[in-house]
Amino acid sequence: MNTRLQLYQTKKKKKWPWIVVLVLLFAAGGGTYYATHAGLINWQQLMANINTTQPTEPAAPEEPAPEEPTPVEPPPPVEEEEPEVADPLPLEEIDHSGAKGYEGNETLPLEPTYIDGILMASKQYPLPSGYAPGESPEARAAFNEMAAAALLDDIRLVAFSTYRSFERQQEIYARYVGNDGQEAADRYSARPGYSEHQTGLAFDIGEENAEHHFARESFGETAAGKWVAEHAHTYGFILRYPKGKEKITGYMYEPWHFRYIGKEKAQAVYESGLTLEEYLEQR
Ligand SMILES: [Zn+2]
Repeated sequence: MNTRLQLYQTKKKKKWPWIVVLVLLFAAGGGTYYATHAGLINWQQLMANINTTQPTEPAAPEEPAPEEPTPVEPPPPVEEEEPEVADPLPLEEIDHSGAKGYEGNETLPLEPTYIDGILMASKQYPLPSGYAPGESPEARAAFNEMAAAALLDDIRLVAFSTYRSFERQQEIYARYVGNDGQEAADRYSARPGYSEHQTGLAFDIGEENAEHHFARESFGETAAGKWVAEHAHTYGFILRYPKGKEKITGYMYEPWHFRYIGKEKAQAVYESGLTLEEYLEQR
C-alpha cells in the first residue's frame, strides 16, 4: 500500500516538473517576444515624448516659483493699513467717487500739487496716477541719520513701509474694500493716488523685533514711538496724522507714519504744534 502510493507520487512528481518547465519556457518565449515589441513601442513613444517635452520641461517647475511670493504676500506686516485681508475685490467693482474727505477731489490731477514747496498727497490733493518717484534718497538718508541717533539711546528704528506705487496702493485698497467694505476701508486706507506713500517721502516707522506694534496705535506708547515723536523733526520728519486731528488730516491717529519735509520746515511745523494742513493754511 505504502509502496504503491509512493510510486504513484514519485511518478507524478517526475511528470510535474517537465510540464511546468515546458509551460514556463513557452510562456517565457512568447512573453519576451511580446514584451520586447511592446517595450520597443513604448520606448519609442517615450523617446518621442521626451524629445518634444524636453525643451519646456525645465521651464515648467520654474513657472510656479515666481508666483510663490504672491500668495505669501497677503499678510505683510509692512502695511500702514493694518487689517489682514483675504481676496482683493476686482478694481472695477470699487466706486471711486464721493466718499467722506474725497468730495470735490475725486479726479486725479495731471500734475502734483506743491504748497510752500511741499509736495502734497492727501484726500484734498491727490497725486497723478503716473507719479512714481520711488523712495526719496534724501528722506532715506535722513531716516538713517535718525536711526543712528536713536541707537545711541538703545532704540533700533526700522522703516517698515516707505514708497508705494500707485499700482501697489490700488491693490492694497482693493483688498481692504473686499474685506471690510468701502466705507470702513476709506477710514484707514488711502485710495490710490491719495496716499502719501506715493510721494516716496512717507516713512512708516517701527522698532526692530517689535512687529506687533507695527502700524498700531500702541507704537505711540512705546519708548521707540515716544522717541520718534520727540526727535523726528530734528531730522526733517513730521508726525503726519496726530491724535485728535482726523477731521483735518483725513486720517486716524498714526503714530508710526512720518513725512519727510526737510529739517527746516519740519522744525517749524513741530514748533507750531499744528498739522501740516493747518500749518500751510496759516501761512
Ligand atoms: Zn504710512
